[in-house]
Amino acid sequence: MKEITLSPELTKEITSIYQTLQEEYDKVAGEIGLTCKGCPDNCCDSYFLHHTYSEWAYLWQGLNLLDQETREQIINRAKEYIAQSAEPLAQGKHPQLMCPLNDNGLCGLYEHRMLICRTHGTPATMTTPDKQFIRFPGCFRCQEIVEKKYGAANDAPAMNRSQILSQLASVESRLFERKRHLYPKVKKNIAEMIVQGPPTVPLPHCER
Ligand code: SF4
Ligand code: SF4
Repeated sequence: MKEITLSPELTKEITSIYQTLQEEYDKVAGEIGLTCKGCPDNCCDSYFLHHTYSEWAYLWQGLNLLDQETREQIINRAKEYIAQSAEPLAQGKHPQLMCPLNDNGLCGLYEHRMLICRTHGTPATMTTPDKQFIRFPGCFRCQEIVEKKYGAANDAPAMNRSQILSQLASVESRLFERKRHLYPKVKKNIAEMIVQGPPTVPLPHCER
């Protein structure tokens, strides 16, 4: 197996994508008047699957910056998460378990958190590769504000996720020198990405 690591250029690019995303999120949240301050919920128990080696490698860049003890605590929480999620997943349900990176209500890897964590909250739109337009209403708190302030959900401002996803897809493609289609798909929750370690792929035939 070969470990997948991000070059300094691709690392810089992901950081920049996340930065732009943050600015757009702040703009839309500001217009709507959405803030997480004082929210009775904590979205870090939402169940998400992640699909890129790039984000997986970026996550591990962050984990490797932590001291060993903290990293081991996170890995142990991730193992616990996997054990506890087995039953609901076997029943076809999404587990509602706190993310192993969450430490006392705060993200323990904020600068390296996943894209979905950065978009959750505000309304968003995207066009799928087969040209279907999708609109996400935002979190429950956002929906409450939108209903009072705008009436029709579609009148509220929304982030456009398509451009961001296409930029991330471009990073993913270049990570594999435009041969991404030759490697296995990724479909993992955050705990699996932590317990399995930095991303690896089978060696190409010519390197075996
Ligand atoms: S994103 Fe929404 S639900 Fe989640 S903490 Fe913020 S306000 Fe609350
Ligand atoms: S990575 Fe951070 S922000 Fe995302 S769910 Fe986990 S603790 Fe929350």
